[in-house]
Amino acid sequence: MSNDSKLDYLELEREMTTWRHELHANPEFGFEEHRTAAFVASKLREFGLDEVAEGIGGTGVVGTLKRGTGNRAVALRADMDALRILEDTNLSYQSKKPGLMHACGHDGHTTMLLGAAKLLAAEGGFDGTVRFVFQPAEEWGKGALAMLADGLMERFPFDEIYGLHNAAGMPVGQLQAGIGAVTSAEDNFEITLKGVGGHSSRPQSGREVMVAVGSLICSLQTIVSRRLRPNETAVVSITEVITDGTRNVLPGQARILGDVRSFVPEVSLEIEKHMLEIAKGTAQTYGLSAELSYLREFVPVVNDAALVDEMLAAAGSVLGTDKVQLSTVPGTGSEDFARFLEHVPGVFARIGNGDSASAHNPKFDFDDGGLLHGANVHAAITRRRLAAQL
Ligand SMILES: [Zn+2]
Ligand SMILES: [Zn+2]
Repeated sequence: MSNDSKLDYLELEREMTTWRHELHANPEFGFEEHRTAAFVASKLREFGLDEVAEGIGGTGVVGTLKRGTGNRAVALRADMDALRILEDTNLSYQSKKPGLMHACGHDGHTTMLLGAAKLLAAEGGFDGTVRFVFQPAEEWGKGALAMLADGLMERFPFDEIYGLHNAAGMPVGQLQAGIGAVTSAEDNFEITLKGVGGHSSRPQSGREVMVAVGSLICSLQTIVSRRLRPNETAVVSITEVITDGTRNVLPGQARILGDVRSFVPEVSLEIEKHMLEIAKGTAQTYGLSAELSYLREFVPVVNDAALVDEMLAAAGSVLGTDKVQLSTVPGTGSEDFARFLEHVPGVFARIGNGDSASAHNPKFDFDDGGLLHGANVHAAITRRRLAAQL
């Protein structure tokens, strides 16, 4: 009954390279991916998907492809946004928009997923539903939540989700996935200390904040070393101190800003609790008031152990079993993919980008040699998880 037919993979790879260069030359910032989303949607329609929905969570796109009678659904996700970086590559397809650049390879991720859509639409080989999820605004950790808030799970339900991110320094054609937390949570905090400023020669007549700031910076470093259990890891970094003082004016107010990375939600909650205690305690010691604002920007990506095995087996079947590896060291970067994993299990895996500049560097470029590998991995995990016997 099926019209499914084999694609010419060399031709697909050539096409994908053209798409990638087109996307690379036209980068768009988070929630402004109008051109990219239109490009994605038109390709998905051209491939003959059953449904293509645009404008999900702003500029998100969801394509749906069904085969057979299976009632399970697998989602594959790519991110579409670029960064505010001035490109410095001299590539023939370098960014046409000065100050905007695909420096994290999301052009490659989008292309790999488009390639997988073309491949699965042409060849089938699965029983059930595939959702192709193209999300906006990954870089600021807002796009996934926007799609979820727009009813992603209700309108386009799926049972599990997979995502790929390129990894600079890993040979092209290799893949790694880790079990459990593989990226960190990122929390941003701001502590405001308030007292009474005054003349630098007469500290006794006010309640200046600077000495308290010094004490607070040191005390905040005891959260990880003295408050967390020794087997838990986290990073508390104070990155900015802004006061209303000048050389001969003692400040009456200070804002202390920083960033926290952790791997378990309970640790993030504990850090916030201790931070508030330390800020209030320090303020009291120096006769000041303290306020804490604590925002959770990213949650950790937590990969499902059983599905990591599935991903490694699927990737091994197309890349070669010697090219896939279980990774054991979590990174302290953050990824918006984590928000989908709060709803369904899944895996976020890293795919080799060869000897490229590191991500977020003005010389970074996605390696086109990885495009077809990525499309094949997406297709393989889909076919494995939506096999007829499941
Ligand atoms: Zn990035
Ligand atoms: Zn990225």
